[in-house]
Amino acid sequence: MRIGAAYYPEPGDRAARTRDIALMQAAGLNSVRMGDLIWDQLEPEDGVFTLEWLQETVAELGQAGIATFLATPTASIPLWLHRQHPDVMHLTAAGVRKPFGKRRHACLRHPEYRHRSLRIAERMAAAFRDSPDIIAVQTDNELMAEEPHCYCAYCQQAFATWLEQRYGTVDRLNTAWGLGFWSQRVRSFSDIFLPQKGDNPSAYVNFLAWASEVAVEFHAAQRAVFKQALPQVPVTHNICSSGFLYLLDHYRLGQACDVMAIDNYPYGWTLENEYGNRGAFTFSPHMTSLALAQVRGGRPGQPFLVAEAQIGRTCGNQRKIVEPRMVRLWSVQEVAQGACGIWFFPFLPFAAGHEHVMAAVLDGDRIPRRRSAEVCQIAAETASLRQVTGNALPVARACILRDFRCDWAFEDGRFCADFRPMRHLHQWYRAVRRLGIGCDVVAPHQELSGYDLILVPALVLVDDTVCAALEAAAARGATIVLTCLTGLRDPDVRSFGPLVHPRLADLAGIAFMEQHPLFAAEDTALRWNLDDTAQRCGLWHDVVTPVAAEVLAVYASRFFAGTPVITRRQGLPGTVYHVGSILSDEAIAAVIDQACGNAAVRAPAVSSHDQMELTEVVGAAGRFVYALNFSETEQPIQFLVPAADASSGEPVGSEMRIPARDFRLFRLVN
Ligand SMILES: [Zn+2]
Repeated sequence: MRIGAAYYPEPGDRAARTRDIALMQAAGLNSVRMGDLIWDQLEPEDGVFTLEWLQETVAELGQAGIATFLATPTASIPLWLHRQHPDVMHLTAAGVRKPFGKRRHACLRHPEYRHRSLRIAERMAAAFRDSPDIIAVQTDNELMAEEPHCYCAYCQQAFATWLEQRYGTVDRLNTAWGLGFWSQRVRSFSDIFLPQKGDNPSAYVNFLAWASEVAVEFHAAQRAVFKQALPQVPVTHNICSSGFLYLLDHYRLGQACDVMAIDNYPYGWTLENEYGNRGAFTFSPHMTSLALAQVRGGRPGQPFLVAEAQIGRTCGNQRKIVEPRMVRLWSVQEVAQGACGIWFFPFLPFAAGHEHVMAAVLDGDRIPRRRSAEVCQIAAETASLRQVTGNALPVARACILRDFRCDWAFEDGRFCADFRPMRHLHQWYRAVRRLGIGCDVVAPHQELSGYDLILVPALVLVDDTVCAALEAAAARGATIVLTCLTGLRDPDVRSFGPLVHPRLADLAGIAFMEQHPLFAAEDTALRWNLDDTAQRCGLWHDVVTPVAAEVLAVYASRFFAGTPVITRRQGLPGTVYHVGSILSDEAIAAVIDQACGNAAVRAPAVSSHDQMELTEVVGAAGRFVYALNFSETEQPIQFLVPAADASSGEPVGSEMRIPARDFRLFRLVN
């Protein structure tokens, strides 16, 4: 288990460095993350490199038993590069060149920026060739964050070339994108325009896909440099926005990484932040575990790194005060979800500059206080946990299919103005996790044979491969939940003719008659057939006729009152639910209760409190349950199978109490 922090030493101050290393040892750290965002300190002039101080620092840390997670500095360009090539800066859609002064504002396609980025990566790789002190490498920092899209001539050219490879002929592209209507047909690939949100939806989805690919390719080029110099060292990239960044395809990035990495700020960045919603925030442990599951889904079945972990207040987007013991619980949650390394951000606060308000492990006076004591405890506890569980990873017989391309298709609001796909996905994820059942988040094209319950929330773009995978899952007995907005278009946002892909309609055993979106301010009545329970739904309404499915709930208002909103088809031999509207949390919980029962997916332990998270993990050392209590009061949990205290081995009863803001690890017997 690696526990560390981000460290930004002053290059010339050796005395401070030596003092800091002693403080790291006292805080129980066995690693630091260094190098990101300090390009100017490593190359103060074009082609003049000063890496010696970094080499000395890495070596001194290594002698103290502290390994280095090295990061390349290319997310913030030095002033000299801007001066020499002012056009490396992003060109906005409005044609304005971004000024110098922030970060992430250089064009990833600009040849001068690319050349110098690779060159500094090569110098770093050469400086640390065969160094035993480097345990991992991170390329760049938080790609695709901070208004990442560029509209310069290099990007236009690259996008056109990418499209030519994808479509072959302009006729094919004109047809796929429906460019005839609104008179936008192109005559050659050089006519291609870089679309903005609200432009042709097929063009925009492809533009976002291309931009994500550019970022992955930028990362992959740096990774190749390090794989040559340090072949044994895993290379990664840190996904920002607590994993909720939807502009970077995590699955494509995962294919170009040796290990996934996330910057996890549960109180600093939520999925609502990603949608620009800065309203009231209620912490849900399942929102954090969703982010971790999503990043883990980039390399399924493997552990991941937390390249940045929240230690206290952040910069400007703080949603809640970080109370004592929360950082410890987040750390244990990260380990439960599969993290094998955690680096807090940062070790020391910045005296000045962009991030001067961020809390650090230590304060500026370097006197150890509450946060560093908590880190010290985390270092000891997570090491013990990993000693007991080994490389155990979460057990998941349920999964959610997520495709980033669908997020991009929803971005312009055309399908449904107020619909937010991650919010919808979170509703379903949370309903499963509240039952203590593990749930992966995976790409639709991933192998699904290990899952007995497959949730398909608003997977708006599908192809025949996805339909075939779901048919195969139903044929082997799996339970599938399709929600509205699934299967409406192909990956180019082109209709199949019928409202929904006919194979999915057949699978659900229903015929789609009409579809009606609405704003969030309006809703619709829903009634369950079984017990007449009344609930609300909204945003989207599939009006369907059952063909081979039974009706579980109907709309109870509007002109389509009495038609099905929730259906179930059984005997495939699997079961397929279809949910035709966006339901309340309560109604989703009812569907999930039934679907889990149907799929015979059960948790080994349960809790009824929404601030509790139970996670079953399995590895060579056995099966375990992490019980994390994020609430401020003691909470009971019930075991449905025999269990023992993981450290003492003492059997525990069927009910255990987890202290407030605390956790326990249990071993499952047999
Ligand atoms: Zn550009």
